[in-house]
Amino acid sequence: MSNNLIYIKNWQRKYPEKNKEYQARWRLRHPDKNHKFHQEYRDKNKGKIQTYRRNNLHLFRGYTKANQHRARKLVLEHYGGKPPKCVNCGCSIFDCLDIDHIYNNGSKERKKQGTGTSFVKWLISNNFPSGYQILCRNCNWLKYIKLLRK
Ligand SMILES: [Zn+2]
Repeated sequence: MSNNLIYIKNWQRKYPEKNKEYQARWRLRHPDKNHKFHQEYRDKNKGKIQTYRRNNLHLFRGYTKANQHRARKLVLEHYGGKPPKCVNCGCSIFDCLDIDHIYNNGSKERKKQGTGTSFVKWLISNNFPSGYQILCRNCNWLKYIKLLRK
C-alpha cells in the first residue's frame, strides 16, 4: 500500500463519523459513479451477496418491517393527526388504529388497491386522496354493525 493510502485508511479509522459524512456527501455529488460502483460490486459478488442474505434473513425482514411501519405511520398521521387518534372515541393506541373509508365503499376499493401495506403505499403514491379517516378497530367494527342493522 502506498503511503498515501495508508494515510487515508488511518484517517478513516481515526474519524469514522467524519468519514461517513464525507462518503455520504461524495455519493450525493457523484450519483452516477456511485451507481456504477454498486452495480460492479453486485456483479462481482453475486454469490457472496446471496449467501449473506440467506444467512441473515432476519435482518432483511427487519428492514421491510421497519419500512412498512414508517409508511403506516405516515398515513395514520396524515389522516389522524400527530399522534394519530380515532375520530370517534379518541383512542390513540397505534396498533388499534385503522384507515376507514368514510363512504363505506371499502370492499370495492380493496379489490382495486389491495389491503394492508399495498393499500398504505397506494395512498402515499396518490398523495393522500380524501375520503378516508382514522378509526380504531372497535369503532370501525361498530360502524360495520350499524350498517348491517340498517
Ligand atoms: Zn374509536
